[in-house]
Amino acid sequence: MLSGNISLGRIGGVEVRVNWSWLIVLALIVWTLADGVFPSQNPRLSGNTHLAMAVVAALLFFASILLHELGHAWEARREGLEVDGITLWLFGGVSQFKGGFPSAGAEFRIAIAGPLVSLVLGVVFVLIAIAGLPSAVDGVAAWLGYINLALLVFNLIPALPLDGGRVLRAALWQSKGDLGWATRVGTDIGRVFGYLFIGLGVAMFIFQGSFSGAWLAFIGWFLLQAATAEARYIATEAALHGLRVRDLMVRDPVTVDGDLTVGQFMDEVARSRRFTTYPVVDGGRPIGLLAFGSVAALPRSEWDSRRVREAMLPLERVPLLTEDETAIDALTALSSPTSNRGLVVEDGHLAGLLSITDLTRALELRRSRPSTGESRPKLGV
Ligand SMILES: [Zn+2]
Repeated sequence: MLSGNISLGRIGGVEVRVNWSWLIVLALIVWTLADGVFPSQNPRLSGNTHLAMAVVAALLFFASILLHELGHAWEARREGLEVDGITLWLFGGVSQFKGGFPSAGAEFRIAIAGPLVSLVLGVVFVLIAIAGLPSAVDGVAAWLGYINLALLVFNLIPALPLDGGRVLRAALWQSKGDLGWATRVGTDIGRVFGYLFIGLGVAMFIFQGSFSGAWLAFIGWFLLQAATAEARYIATEAALHGLRVRDLMVRDPVTVDGDLTVGQFMDEVARSRRFTTYPVVDGGRPIGLLAFGSVAALPRSEWDSRRVREAMLPLERVPLLTEDETAIDALTALSSPTSNRGLVVEDGHLAGLLSITDLTRALELRRSRPSTGESRPKLGV
């Protein structure tokens, strides 16, 4: 879902990425504004002015969503969480955190920081809109004021994984001390709103022929998916609670020297020690991961001319883990599209190998056992 991200660099120490789906939204917004909203609002202005207004408004909308997410991310850092980055995609932004929430109070402050930014932006744009500036400027400001306040209201719906749902969960968590229960209540409300939006959206689309009905149904569907994912994530986290990479990894895996030819690897290593993957090393330093499948797929005629380092997955594309990392963070890292196996590296040296299979096995073993503990929501919308 979140593949295809373009990095925009770092803002205040937080990496900002844009998903390609956002470019479609940006184009749709420019089109809707230039073709519908601004011409009906300011019919005297020219078509080119409407287009320029639409581009400026869309870019400032983009900046507004970014600031909302930075609000969450900066507050999360203040609370001592490691922030992986922000990704802007179809429905706005997603902040990715690492590590557990220190407390219900911290979750509350992180959740509320984003809506507070939207509130400030909404008020500032409304004030600009009523300041009596040229009509092109106040047209843009009025729309931005409206959209930021609409975003604020939507995000405050008390349904997980929306900000309002996080606020509600923090309050429930605080009052009963049971995070699992608080999450279930929040995600159940999320599902109810998801179905409600879908029903309402479909009805609007059918009975009024309204295109916003289709949007509402789409948002409902997204909410439903996200609430289900959040519920599953918290259940998984509870099952993996307390486990770290060092508890599950394979220590001292059979390694391969990167300078061996594929033929040498087949004769000297693969024949006697059969594994699906081998860490590749260069003087003790890990440089990549060799999948037996990708070597076996090479034509036999190339075995003596190709070296292992040419056939391996290079280090940049292999998920890298540390022994101290939590199992749930490792699960996120190993859900990568390039490799479901990761190298455990300590001080530049190979410590072990961990696959998603090792994690799911641990998960199945512990799933039935109830567990309480800290939470680390992965996504903060
Ligand atoms: Zn938010």
